[in-house]
Amino acid sequence: MSRLAILDYDRCQPRRCSMECMKYCPGVRMEEETIVMDENLGKPIISEELCSGCGICTKRCPFGAIRIIGLPEELTDDRIVHSYGQNRFRLYGLITPRDGVTGLLGPNGVGKSTIIKALSGEMVLNLNDLTETPDMKKVLDYFSGTELQNYFEKLKNNGIKPIHKPQYVDVLPKVVKGKVGELLKKVDEKGEFEKIINALEISNILDRTFDQLSGGELQRVAIAAACLREGDIYYFDEPTSWLDVKQRFSAAKVIREVAEGKKVVAVEHDLIVLDYLSDYIHIMYGIPSAYGVVTHPRGTRVGINTYLDGFLKEENIRFRKSPIVFEKRPPQDSTNRPLLLDYTDISKKLGDFSLNVNGGQIYQGEVVGILGPNGIGKTTFVKALAGVISPDSGEVTGDVKVSYKPQYISSDFEGTVEDLLMSITAIHTSYYKSEIIKPLALENILDSSVKDLSGGELQRVSIAACLSQDADLYLIDEPSAFLDVEQRLTTSRVIRRMADEKEAAMFVVDHDILFQDYISDRFIVFSGIAGSSGTGSEPLQKRAGANKFLKEMGITFRRDPDTGRPRVNKEGSQRDVYQKEIGEYYYL
Ligand code: ADP
Ligand code: ADP
Ligand code: SF4
Repeated sequence: MSRLAILDYDRCQPRRCSMECMKYCPGVRMEEETIVMDENLGKPIISEELCSGCGICTKRCPFGAIRIIGLPEELTDDRIVHSYGQNRFRLYGLITPRDGVTGLLGPNGVGKSTIIKALSGEMVLNLNDLTETPDMKKVLDYFSGTELQNYFEKLKNNGIKPIHKPQYVDVLPKVVKGKVGELLKKVDEKGEFEKIINALEISNILDRTFDQLSGGELQRVAIAAACLREGDIYYFDEPTSWLDVKQRFSAAKVIREVAEGKKVVAVEHDLIVLDYLSDYIHIMYGIPSAYGVVTHPRGTRVGINTYLDGFLKEENIRFRKSPIVFEKRPPQDSTNRPLLLDYTDISKKLGDFSLNVNGGQIYQGEVVGILGPNGIGKTTFVKALAGVISPDSGEVTGDVKVSYKPQYISSDFEGTVEDLLMSITAIHTSYYKSEIIKPLALENILDSSVKDLSGGELQRVSIAACLSQDADLYLIDEPSAFLDVEQRLTTSRVIRRMADEKEAAMFVVDHDILFQDYISDRFIVFSGIAGSSGTGSEPLQKRAGANKFLKEMGITFRRDPDTGRPRVNKEGSQRDVYQKEIGEYYYL
């Protein structure tokens, strides 16, 4: 087995330690150059050839900046297409774009954006040669005789026009000035302005400037801008972040249309959307921020099933301990359990917006999924139940203690993640470690300052903080936002297990339907007109709730025979038409 030595450049601070890595490394003590200080870089360099893999430096480094990772033998250096530097992230392999939509499926930090940047010509691959500036000629040699040689050749000679919808749309207001409508008209090379703005429902925001747009609006405008341009290959990096379910499917439909006769590459963490969107899938695995490996293309169904299974047969790699399996039948009736909470019909007016929710009962140990588009009062309802706001009419009875994770999470805490969690509960128990810290991958950020966390880290810490409270009712608003596909799967397991173990109930608002289908016992369905009025149903049995919701969305589901996961039927297919006819939108 070969090995990687990875140094976290942000954590490593040689000026603030006594170079424990060099002091204690047995290689250095034998006067070998296993670790040397690079004066230019101001960081130590660990030689992967000389390192014995003893792991002493990883334990001695006071900042936890070093990782020594054993690599599967087949990951030889000649497969590295890019390295971000000495002891830094390396990417093994590349995808070959094909006609139709190619989906990239894998956790964050394994090189998906790096692939997109390389294929869209925003950077040149260095092929792990750190001694010279990256050179396209070498890239052409490296891929000689493959389709990628042809691709890069054309890219170099401007024979391919790539279009890229970037991942972080929230930075757009800083770089794009002017009104939305003016910008979109300017980029409309296909003459499809009307069609696209209607499909993405952005006609009412054309007069606004970018700094006036919400996350979901920015996302749809960015997708529209990409789709309106005439290109040969389109890259969509996380197109559904910030979008509700309906908007996710409209975006996916628009992207599929763009792919007709063209190539599209999409990175997507919502598995139902990815499934709907893609013709092929490349699973990516590795260790985030250390290395990433591109696997061969698989058909979408098999690709997603393989991912859920957690085992890559051809590569003989298990990347998750156990498979994710969906129940093929709705779970046992959760209303047989002891009653926790009773609420009457609730109404609330907020400015021009009015909300009415039917009353209901909530039982111990159940997870109630809350479904519905944005802007129709889901959060308001959750807040009314939590006692954060008082309803105009209606009452909540039952002496319940509520723990609430809001949709917009705040990093406003002075101290580390450990300080925050310790202020709520004892976190050094083996139960807490195995149920919360490990599955939510918090070990490596316990000593990070809450203020410095990334979006995904803050989300996981907020979920942990919410679940750590001693409460009877947990209200978790949009837990899957900012999480990658793997984190969504593990988080859904954590929430589900907590509900089963505690005599509490969980309310989960989320737009990822696979996530909702996996964790929920029942559903409350919201509908209405965004910003104007909203109605919420009573808690419905899973099938009835899902049926109501899918009917409003105009989509039908089937179950994958192997994993039991829900899949969207193709619009107008025999199955879609039949299920709509008999009113069974969820599945037969
Ligand atoms: P993904 O899109 O799968 O999240 P990326 O391609 O963005 O992954 O990045 C993979 C890893 O490469 C990151 O975790 C980061 O550690 C490293 N990386 C990305 N960009 C740079 C850079 N400019 N310099 C150094 N390291 C980088
Ligand atoms: P959802 O969670 O379904 O996205 P919300 O409950 O957050 O919806 O909001 C529903 C509607 O109420 C939105 O149109 C929002 O603009 C409006 N709203 C929320 N809070 C207030 C407030 N304090 N004053 C006026 N309008 C509000
Ligand atoms: Fe030296 Fe051991 Fe660290 Fe390798 S793992 S660099 S041999 S201390």
